[in-house]
Amino acid sequence: MEFEPVIGLEVHVELETRSKMFCACPVVDLTQASPNSAVCPVCAGMPGTLPVINETAVEFALRVATALQCEIAPTSIFARKNYFYPDLPKGYQISQYEQPLAVNGQITIQTPQGEKVIRIRRVHLEEDTGKLTHVEDTNGAHSLVDLNRAGVPLLEIVTEPDFRSPEEVRAYAEMLRTLVRYLGVNSGDLEKGVMRIEPNISVRPKGQQEFGTKVEIKNLNSFRALERGVTYETNRHIDLINAGKAVAQETVGWDETKQVTYSQRSKEDAHDYRYFPEPDLPPLFVNEEWIDSVEKSLPELPWEKIRRFMQSYGLNRAEATRLAEDLAVSQYFDQVMEAASVPARSVFAWVTGELFSLMNESGQVIDSIKITPQSLADLIKLVADGEINQNTGKAVLAEMFTTGKPAAEIVTEKGLTQVSDGDFIAGVVAQTLAENRLEVASFKAGKETVVNFLFGQVMRKAGGKANPQVVRAELEKQLKQ
Ligand code: ADP
Ligand code: ZN
Ligand code: MG
Repeated sequence: MEFEPVIGLEVHVELETRSKMFCACPVVDLTQASPNSAVCPVCAGMPGTLPVINETAVEFALRVATALQCEIAPTSIFARKNYFYPDLPKGYQISQYEQPLAVNGQITIQTPQGEKVIRIRRVHLEEDTGKLTHVEDTNGAHSLVDLNRAGVPLLEIVTEPDFRSPEEVRAYAEMLRTLVRYLGVNSGDLEKGVMRIEPNISVRPKGQQEFGTKVEIKNLNSFRALERGVTYETNRHIDLINAGKAVAQETVGWDETKQVTYSQRSKEDAHDYRYFPEPDLPPLFVNEEWIDSVEKSLPELPWEKIRRFMQSYGLNRAEATRLAEDLAVSQYFDQVMEAASVPARSVFAWVTGELFSLMNESGQVIDSIKITPQSLADLIKLVADGEINQNTGKAVLAEMFTTGKPAAEIVTEKGLTQVSDGDFIAGVVAQTLAENRLEVASFKAGKETVVNFLFGQVMRKAGGKANPQVVRAELEKQLKQ
């Protein structure tokens, strides 16, 4: 029997506002700030304190919800989600429940088969919990509590069960990360835990309408873990079904070392959160005006940009997606395209090839490099027009990268202009052949690959500046004489 996975995602995105969701404490980078340095009586859960809604957090949430084309609720309600755990000083988490901020949205993802629309079920606001670190040292096993994260604004984005493969799930998670970066609400640094993904997975025979029993994987913070976790669960369910066994509804964790999931809790020990409306907060009202102003402030969205890159530059889906992934890179690309009439494909190749590797080697991002879009465009044009050859172009780019000098200046300074002069090249070829009689003889005896060696010799003799097409033609002409 053939099976297909059915997957829905719950994603938690921290909103990187200046202050927390319900108090004035700063939102800090957990990997930088010392533990419990950004905590006040409100987020420490002291009795008698009162929460106040952070307007910017609502604005950020509205940006995401609007970009996801959700219906925004004019009135939404915060509730208390009660449970006892050391990372939750109040004993409850404030979260939207029955009346979330936004519902019924959609997002367009890119798959190898083309675009796919994923439905968004809901987007709601809540607060993050503290962070626990489990350690085992000379004091034995114990847990450290960092409340810097307690009360950080958190957005939960829940999809309908619309995914049918691990690749689609990954494409969605990547697109969502790109989106929150474009919207300026989250750094997208998954490894810092600012975006956490929980896939729900079930399996059914292909063609069957009803869904199978789902299993939820908790708190994944890398795309790789997401893809592998979903693949692992899918295969596990298929094996169970093939063996005539039932899949148990449960919550599992992902073991990064063993690359397997492990059971955390079954349906029977599911929490009863005893939700009730938060009595310390009024309902949240969002009027049309606010929604309109947010809508107007939205930048070009990633999937819109991908479409534009395909339509106006003639890039393919994979190329367009690669560029749009990073807002700064896509803006740089646009600027190079505006600066000179050069083919988009070659700009793509230069940017994602040579330029990215120079950036990687030196640990720089595109915003901090010395090469302006105009000077990259100039370089690409020099190569496209045959002024310098491809290899010289690479060397010039490397020099531009360290010095910031314009391409033309480097080319003139170093006398790198490509030589296409027929007489000059014919002379170098003749001289090279004269110096390599053995190779010429073996070429004539039928060993045609010798041509590549001779080609290299000619190029070297000409100082790397000779036009490779002219050299090749001349070489073949003289060899066949
Ligand atoms: P829960 O109440 O257990 O959190 P929900 O019905 O709220 O479950 O759904 C949570 C997520 O699981 C959503 O993203 C939804 O699309 C997805 N989901 C629901 N049922 C299934 C299923 N049978 N298989 C896969 N995903 C599912
Ligand atoms: Zn606080
Ligand atoms: Mg769930």
